[in-house]
Amino acid sequence: MSKIRALALFSGGLDSLLAMKLLIEQGIEVIGLHFDTGFGGKAEEEKQKYLQDIAKKIGAKLEIVNIRDQFIQEILFDPKYGYGKNFNPCIDCHANMIRIAKALLPKYDAHFIISGEVVGQRPMSQRFDALKKVENLSSADGFILRPLSAKLLPPTIPEQKGWVNRKKLLGISGRSREVQMELAKKWGIENYESPSGGCLLTDEHFSKKIKDHITYDTFDVEDIDVLKWGRHFRLPDGAKLVVSRNQEENEKIKNIHQTKYILFTLPLPGPVSLLHKNASKKDKELAVKIALTYSKARPEESYEVVIGDKRVTASPFPSKAEAQRYLIK
Ligand code: SF4
Repeated sequence: MSKIRALALFSGGLDSLLAMKLLIEQGIEVIGLHFDTGFGGKAEEEKQKYLQDIAKKIGAKLEIVNIRDQFIQEILFDPKYGYGKNFNPCIDCHANMIRIAKALLPKYDAHFIISGEVVGQRPMSQRFDALKKVENLSSADGFILRPLSAKLLPPTIPEQKGWVNRKKLLGISGRSREVQMELAKKWGIENYESPSGGCLLTDEHFSKKIKDHITYDTFDVEDIDVLKWGRHFRLPDGAKLVVSRNQEENEKIKNIHQTKYILFTLPLPGPVSLLHKNASKKDKELAVKIALTYSKARPEESYEVVIGDKRVTASPFPSKAEAQRYLIK
């Protein structure tokens, strides 16, 4: 028989690493699939480097699967099992990843799927009934193995077929991280990410920005990056304004590929800003006033700013508190 190969759902967190390592130790070839929803955190390049390095360290291959568009179209705004504490549709998101991994089995000539889920560990996606829901929703039909909790779950097809030695799998449940910590130490796995891998959908403030966004606009892939950077304001006539917080964000905001906003700068050192291209005249004036408030502009002076093909003259607010009234909180 050809080499047994598994596709792993690879978030980058410790549990996914241990699940992969447990199978690698059995001589199974593991390809870690990292699903890029776009919400995985701010520093994409850093993240990819981390994933490459840590996958290599445990002896797994890495494939990044870009599912941004599909995730927005099919999962994010209509999850069958709802949301966790914030805008995180974890059950549907897991099931979606498993469904996609299953469809990718032939491409990688792989036999089954593994996931680092632990029974009863995390509130939303990893309760026992949640695992069942994920399974039903993903139609994985016994092809999904959870090496960390396998002994507490019915034998899966890879175990029944003898591809995997069930005796060498674990029976971890609950929130204690003791066994995981010991294994991490044993295998020299360090500096791993948090369980959610920094998923922005679990972040309260980011979730509020999504909720605000969909009240006013359609949500497209390009909006993910816009939401990641800067201070976000909702202006009285409905336009969104984003004002950078520092030099680093100036660069990030300048480099976002987006089509809905006009980028504008100030005639003195200060933030780079994005204003929705359909902004009214009143919102444009206010946008300039707010952006000036976060620069070294003086309230007693007026400044001319170019926004697209319009010139707007305004002065900053005397204090940031006045600009902050429009912040999306
Ligand atoms: S934390 Fe984010 S990436 Fe992870 S399952 Fe939940 S929604 Fe998906």
